[in-house]
Amino acid sequence: MIELRSDTFTLPTSAMLRAMGEAPLGDDVYGEDPTVRELEERAAHVLGKEAACLLPSGTMANLASILVHCPRGSKALVGAESDIYVYEAAGASVCGGVAYEPLPNQPDGTIELADLRRGFPDDPDDPQFALPALICLENTQNRCGGAVLPFHYLAEVRRFADERGVPVHLDGARLFNAAVALGVPASEIARYADSVQFCLSKGLSAPIGSIAAGTRDFVTSVRRVRKMLGGGMRQAGVIAAAGIVALGEVDRLAEDHANARLLADGLADVPGIEIDPSSVRTNILMFRVKDPRFTWQSFVDSTRVRGLSIAELGHGRLRAVTHAGVSAADVTKAVEIVRATLATGPA
Ligand SMILES: *Cc1c(COP(=O)(O)O)cnc(C)c1O
Repeated sequence: MIELRSDTFTLPTSAMLRAMGEAPLGDDVYGEDPTVRELEERAAHVLGKEAACLLPSGTMANLASILVHCPRGSKALVGAESDIYVYEAAGASVCGGVAYEPLPNQPDGTIELADLRRGFPDDPDDPQFALPALICLENTQNRCGGAVLPFHYLAEVRRFADERGVPVHLDGARLFNAAVALGVPASEIARYADSVQFCLSKGLSAPIGSIAAGTRDFVTSVRRVRKMLGGGMRQAGVIAAAGIVALGEVDRLAEDHANARLLADGLADVPGIEIDPSSVRTNILMFRVKDPRFTWQSFVDSTRVRGLSIAELGHGRLRAVTHAGVSAADVTKAVEIVRATLATGPA
């Protein structure tokens, strides 16, 4: 099966499995796992932040970050197409009494400043309004097709947030995809945010884990929330060892981006597929089936029968994600499968 549903299907590399088997371990809830400490120090350094904390998932890293930034009864401004708003089970509302204010994401993944401005009440002393305590950005923006937020936009949001005294949290689940696409160190992107989370478990191929980073005080508070949420892990060095290897292999993501472009160009040539290859910047492609013989469901089922697995993200939008488990030859094969499926009709 050519698995294009998600880059979370990546398996740990043999170097990771070796490192996991050999890692020095301790109890990380006591702060005594040397491998976790090493990963956290390296991650903080790579992001240009004072400190970092390993968490079991990106969802928990985002949740802990929001809970640290936002008091009960405040609101977090989030993209209506953000992972935080769409896919994270309203955790900050459930656990922290924090309201989400969803603001439209533009096709390029940004939230317009005019929309952010609307999230702030004209009179902050008027008691009927919840006060914004956080702005959340997502980079790359998954549901906007792996869009990379431009630097001038990050700078504008930073200025806007500073003027209003509100912190910025960056959901950088695929931060390194953005960094590789822009050809800059991840810290160049992370510097516009007060806190950042990224996933080790997506394109970076580690089996488990996310990093939340920020100031030392922020990370101290994240550790408390992590424990409260049940995310304090004991010999977590087993996970961290894979994460350390992952941090050394971020440049490999360029291969995924090249494969995504190859796939986009191939699909653009297939009658019945609607895709804009110029919109593909990283490892995520969005497309649609326009052939009236197919629904998105029958199309997904029909390609699956032929050995190609793709995802649907709502309203018939299909998603394909390239990753370490997908070669250029797989991409060629995937295009052939799509072509054959449309030539034959529903399975
Ligand atoms: C996957 C993802 C997350 C959540 O990470 P998990 O480890 O799956 O919980 C958060 N944000 C974005 C943008 C993601 O793609």
